[in-house]
Amino acid sequence: ALAWMAAPQLTESWEFSPVYRTHLLGAMLWATCIAAAFNLVRARFMLLLNERVAANTAKAREYLEKLQYLALHDSVTALPNRAGILQQLEAAIAGCTADNEVIVVMDIRLERLLEITNILGERGGDELLRAIGEALGEHIGSFGRLGRTRPDEFVAFFRTPRQNATPRHLERTLEEIPLIFPMNDFPIHLEHTTGSALYPTHADNAEDLLRKAEQALLQARGSHVAMAMYDDRLDQLFIRRNRLFGQLREAMNEDRLELWFQPQMDLQSGRIIGAEALARWRKPDGSFVPPGEFIPVAEQSGLIKPFTQWVLTRFFRQVAAWRAAGLDLHYSVNLSARNLADPDIIVDLAALLVSAGVKAQHVVLELTESSFAEQPEQFMGMATQLNAMGFRQSIDDFGTGYSSLSYLKDLPVDESSAAIVKSTIQLAHNLGLKVVAEGIESAEVAAVLKAAGCDIGQGFHFSKGLPPDEFAAFARATL
Ligand code: C2E
Ligand code: MG
Repeated sequence: ALAWMAAPQLTESWEFSPVYRTHLLGAMLWATCIAAAFNLVRARFMLLLNERVAANTAKAREYLEKLQYLALHDSVTALPNRAGILQQLEAAIAGCTADNEVIVVMDIRLERLLEITNILGERGGDELLRAIGEALGEHIGSFGRLGRTRPDEFVAFFRTPRQNATPRHLERTLEEIPLIFPMNDFPIHLEHTTGSALYPTHADNAEDLLRKAEQALLQARGSHVAMAMYDDRLDQLFIRRNRLFGQLREAMNEDRLELWFQPQMDLQSGRIIGAEALARWRKPDGSFVPPGEFIPVAEQSGLIKPFTQWVLTRFFRQVAAWRAAGLDLHYSVNLSARNLADPDIIVDLAALLVSAGVKAQHVVLELTESSFAEQPEQFMGMATQLNAMGFRQSIDDFGTGYSSLSYLKDLPVDESSAAIVKSTIQLAHNLGLKVVAEGIESAEVAAVLKAAGCDIGQGFHFSKGLPPDEFAAFARATL
């Protein structure tokens, strides 16, 4: 630009005097120098600029790589995360073309891991997770890939001959997984539950395959087993349960639940002595959903609390009305294992006794034997409190769960069933307890039980569960 500005002087004057020529030469020299200096500066600037750009590009690439790494890896264990393991699984699926090979995907959940890491604190928790990641990686890395998909879930997949993809083989693989992790010199024992799914048997893409392994994990946890292979039928059940959950909530809101009563007879006198309240859910089309189906759904969700509240409120109101009307029976109501884990139940029951004006000794609470097995200490604590409040209690389904008396009848001994019944009745009587026999469907069974000294009988032989009005009529006729 400087050189160009000098040019007009050249065109303005046509006189080439020596002085002027000197000036002109000087000016041209000056302009050339300036231009050269400018070029030098420009070249230097370009060089610097290129260097900067190159450095920044490298930095940007590094950031990008880091971001890509972070997007595909778990920051604690450095193992692939969900997206990362899905990418690897997708590649493995694409490469698995042999007919006699399958890919096994295992969703491994470390039980109680979150509680343990909670105790260890954040730093200790991360350390434990890294130790777990390393141990699992060392074990699984020799034949497959490992990733961490959730805080307490690891996913492994590997290729294996089709005939090796049996639950037995997989169990053996899992048995080899290390379970003890040294932390600050003291070993931490972890249990794991695993759900597995197979390519191509259960799904043909990584996303679905992982989802099905996760589904199988839920199935394993739900049935308290260490490992489950994905099962389509269980999936259907799962879907049905989920649907039921929504419908049950709706049914409660829309008051479509009913409380029916099944008579309990004094076997010796043949008179009615009590009744068991049984929940009924009537669908809009008039059909019933059996409680055996919807109560587990309520139990596995928060719904069990409002459901029990509904049952108990309805129950106490009905008992108060019938006792006031002279139906002086003992009325039983079922409590689920989940209810016993809820300390509020004591307060709720006390409040209901008062508001309904019912005496606790007229009420029998049925607690299932299996809830004792699940949490014996909690069960005993609760039973003691309920007893102190004056409630009678009965152990429901006795002999079918924890005590496994039902297995005894499989002994290769004649008449073992009758012997078990007789001894159980004697045992109960020796302990000062009364025995209720449920599920009496024939006069013959009723007679045998009566002869064995059984106190109370309940079953279709006497009556099914009845709506309140029908029950009251039945009770008046057999009182
Ligand atoms: P459960 O407490 O053992 O109740 C007895 C079940 O046996 C009832 O089934 C009853 O209809 C059935 N039953 C009675 N007599 C006979 C018979 O002679 N033959 C046969 N085959 N069955 C008979 P239901 O009403 O389907 O209830 C199933 C279970 O659901 C109950 O077993 C109880 O554990 C639970 N349940 C019912 N209502 C409630 C409730 O309000 N709350 C809670 N927590 N559980 C409930
Ligand atoms: Mg019962």
